[in-house]
Amino acid sequence: MIPFLDLKAINGQYRDELIAACIRVIDSGWYIAGNELAQFERAFASYCGTKHAIGVANGLDALVLTLRAWKEQGKFKEGDEVIVPSNTYIASILAISANGLVPVLVEADLATYNLCPAKTEAAITAKTRAILPVHLYGQLADMPRISDIAQRHNLLVLEDSAQAHGAELNGRKAGNWGDASGFSFYPGKNLGALGDAGAVTTNDDQLAETLRALRNYGSHEKYRNLFQGSNSRLDEIQAAMLSVKLKHLDTETAHRRKIAQAYLNGISNPAITLPAIQSGLNSSNSKLVNEAHVFHVFVIRCEQREALQKHLLKHGIHTLIHYPIPPHQQQAYKEWNMQSYPVSEIIHQQVLSLPMGPTVTMEDVKKVIAAINIFKI
Ligand SMILES: *Cc1c(COP(=O)(O)O)cnc(C)c1O
Repeated sequence: MIPFLDLKAINGQYRDELIAACIRVIDSGWYIAGNELAQFERAFASYCGTKHAIGVANGLDALVLTLRAWKEQGKFKEGDEVIVPSNTYIASILAISANGLVPVLVEADLATYNLCPAKTEAAITAKTRAILPVHLYGQLADMPRISDIAQRHNLLVLEDSAQAHGAELNGRKAGNWGDASGFSFYPGKNLGALGDAGAVTTNDDQLAETLRALRNYGSHEKYRNLFQGSNSRLDEIQAAMLSVKLKHLDTETAHRRKIAQAYLNGISNPAITLPAIQSGLNSSNSKLVNEAHVFHVFVIRCEQREALQKHLLKHGIHTLIHYPIPPHQQQAYKEWNMQSYPVSEIIHQQVLSLPMGPTVTMEDVKKVIAAINIFKI
């Protein structure tokens, strides 16, 4: 059986280093907001090329607290609109609603699955204050165009980089395009902790300071509270795990890209639509893997998805669907259930994610390609 994602094997690669880091934290006697967090924040900011990284409890909080900080700074108020892709993982949208802001769903480009810049610009109203592009599946959204739109309309940009650690376009990494960016270090993400964790990256000193307070009851200074904050801290033990794993991230990403290139070259079944790779400076070939994509997942499309998934399972290949139900059809957003987002609906009906990750072997990949190519409708 080829598993979709083998977390035990992924973390097992670094077992000795992780154990050594655990021991270091246990023996330090300091478990929250200490050196491990400060070190990881410095290393991650440097990795992204940003001035600041602020560790928080998870990826959702990274987004929620950033929007909250902007509210505290008077940059927007309840009822203001934030543009977000209609096909994202629901967390991006929850972060907007949680702040009393209005999520405005905008369709993706069906080739890249990322927010369509033209539709984004068309959705801007007098109430729009921010754009929340998601680097879905690990590929950077079209940030040059989105940044340009934001600038012309005076909007803030909050990147959702939860799936795109290390993705880079024109020499600029995910997390360093927007006014701020939210990252998740959920165990299954490209940079995963051994539990929950997240971070915000930004070049804005004042935002960084507000976030450091908001994650800690609204307090910078013991027993003085500037804001009605929350408890959303990144534990020392998880920061220590992340420092170990950050060192190996680029090697893992290179392996993911190698797998992706093999899938792109090898899958030739006409029933399958391969993902389009957005061109960066180094490539204009949509089938050539480049640095803008870190392949958190490798997503293909097939009109007979259920049959394909069954066929692959019969061949010992485990696949997943990211995601089966679009946000506007979720019970949680009943008010959108009658609306139609045709691109998002096609995506959710047809996508299938193939085995991908640092411990998937090229031998596994060959088997997956062979099984897909013999699939008959
Ligand atoms: C995982 C994810 C999140 C939320 O991260 P958590 O750490 O699970 O809270 C947000 N947005 C996207 C696109 C994600 O994939």
